[in-house]
Amino acid sequence: MNRGHRNILGILVVVLLMYSFVSYYLQRGMITEREVYTYHQFEQSLAAGEVRSVEIVQNQEVPTGMVKVGIDGEESPRILYVADVKDVIADMEQYDVPYVMDDVSRAGSMLSGMLPYALILVVMMVFMFMMMGRAAGGNNGGKMMNFGKSRAKMQDANVKKVQFNQVAGLQEEKEELKEIVDFLKNPGKFVDVGARIPKGVLLVGPPGTGKTLLAKAVAGEANVPFFSISGSDFVEMFVGVGASRVRDLFEEAKKNAPCIIFIDEIDAVARRRGTGLGGGHDEREQTLNQLLVEMDGFGVNEGIIVMAATNRVDILDPAILRPGRFDRKVAVGRPDVKGREEILRVHVQGKPLAQDVDLHQIARTTPGFSGADLENLMNESAILAARMDRKYIKMEDVQKAFIKVGIGTEKKSRLVPELERKITAYHEAGHAILFHVLPDVGPVYTVSIIPTGVGAAGYTMPLPENDNVFNTRGKMLQDMKVGMGGRIAEELIFDDITTGASQDIKSVTATARAMITQYGMSENLGFINYEEDSDEVFLGRDLGHSRSFSEEVAKEIDKEVKKLVDGCYEDAKRILVEHMDVLHSCAALLMEKERISREEFEALFEERAV
Ligand code: ADP
Ligand code: MG
Ligand code: ZN
Repeated sequence: MNRGHRNILGILVVVLLMYSFVSYYLQRGMITEREVYTYHQFEQSLAAGEVRSVEIVQNQEVPTGMVKVGIDGEESPRILYVADVKDVIADMEQYDVPYVMDDVSRAGSMLSGMLPYALILVVMMVFMFMMMGRAAGGNNGGKMMNFGKSRAKMQDANVKKVQFNQVAGLQEEKEELKEIVDFLKNPGKFVDVGARIPKGVLLVGPPGTGKTLLAKAVAGEANVPFFSISGSDFVEMFVGVGASRVRDLFEEAKKNAPCIIFIDEIDAVARRRGTGLGGGHDEREQTLNQLLVEMDGFGVNEGIIVMAATNRVDILDPAILRPGRFDRKVAVGRPDVKGREEILRVHVQGKPLAQDVDLHQIARTTPGFSGADLENLMNESAILAARMDRKYIKMEDVQKAFIKVGIGTEKKSRLVPELERKITAYHEAGHAILFHVLPDVGPVYTVSIIPTGVGAAGYTMPLPENDNVFNTRGKMLQDMKVGMGGRIAEELIFDDITTGASQDIKSVTATARAMITQYGMSENLGFINYEEDSDEVFLGRDLGHSRSFSEEVAKEIDKEVKKLVDGCYEDAKRILVEHMDVLHSCAALLMEKERISREEFEALFEERAV
């Protein structure tokens, strides 16, 4: 080969490589510009039906992957990095959205076949980087190399900062975090008296309860730089990238101290180590190890506070909770009725309401809703109002939206066989009557036999008077009776019984067991806890643990549970037999109207008194 040929070949290779790199980084640049797209947001888009196309790019050898999500009305796809592609597939199947799998592992194996060529390419690449670095100076060359850089966004100083007053409810949580704000504002005050400022704060709570919002508010109140990154951003397809991103993130933070690093969805990286199979978990472990090293590495009072959020504290690696790491835990719970009303007030701003919209009433009928659910509820209501060409939201819209977001779409079109409808009507009537008759539960807000689309044939919804911290023995017994009401009504009316009560049976049993093994409410077994790990839920972990009590006690527990359940059963049955006439009239009305309101239901009892 003469000199001239070699030059031409060299130039050709360099041009090709440059082309592929430039296009790669252009694409990457597009991704980084976008705000981080989280799994939570992805699920919200799915639920809202905005997802147009989904392409899953995965190397089959590892569970992690990249998902390109096409959203209605958006030009380029959103990019989502997931810890486990299976989660996405499960979601796609649940929402019945078609998706494309793009497997890159075959390309990988082809590559290994071409190892000698690959080696030459690597040498060429190194050569090229050196050339580029020299030609363009440090600046440009640095940009080319930022593959392993953290993708944390530093919050722009001009962006309107979130303040505590935009976070409704969550009084105690805010109180705890105010301390952190104080640390960041005047670290000197604490250092002077020898206090150790916490390094890490972990926000734990169900999705949509405002964890991300709270973290932003802490940064906003303290007026310090806020680096936010999502756990799934660390989990890349390429081993080693996550760890280098962590390193880079902390380096950047140290330059900007005092500041906050916020790692959203930390469970994507900080899962219990050594649980997975396959190479993908090595990547996560490396990332987690690096995170621990960094957190141990900076001094106690350097002015960096690492905040993280998760809804799966049970799967976190215990190492992360050790002192000097995330030593503060703030539990962010679902809002109580007062909290819900406050959150609703925040989210009706800019949404004109009709006179009949009663936020207090809405709050009372939405137990279990998170802040995000409530936000969604008001948004759906506004959409429904707009669809009717109205300029304001009516209570009617809220009620329709409630069914949509809260209990699944009413499937009026699905024809329920007549007998099934009848059984469901008696079942729900049974629950409802007990709710009404027993003093500490209820009153009933709605009774419905419209299939909910999430598996339930109907529902009976009580109106909670207040959210108590403690439960009483009496209330728990009544809850059990209400739970049994459905099945008992079926038994009283029909020759045969159905499988529809399995969920009721499960929760009744759980309550009874808890009363005896956790709350010491059994006379025979007394003031003893027979349950291990009862203070926290470790999903799937209690399979293997050994009992601390004998076979005899276990038998005694079973006997007590049975006694408790049987007692409630007899009581509930007696009440239903006494109200047989209401049971019939309620079931009949349900079959006629499919859903009855509190007034209609209570009228049934008044008719009877006459
Ligand atoms: P999480 O991070 O816990 O999943 P987010 O902080 O992302 O929840 O909350 C999602 C959205 O729900 C917020 O952007 C906000 O609109 C609404 N939200 C949740 N909790 C609250 C709250 N306490 N006050 C006001 N809005 C809330
Ligand atoms: Mg969040
Ligand atoms: Zn039931």
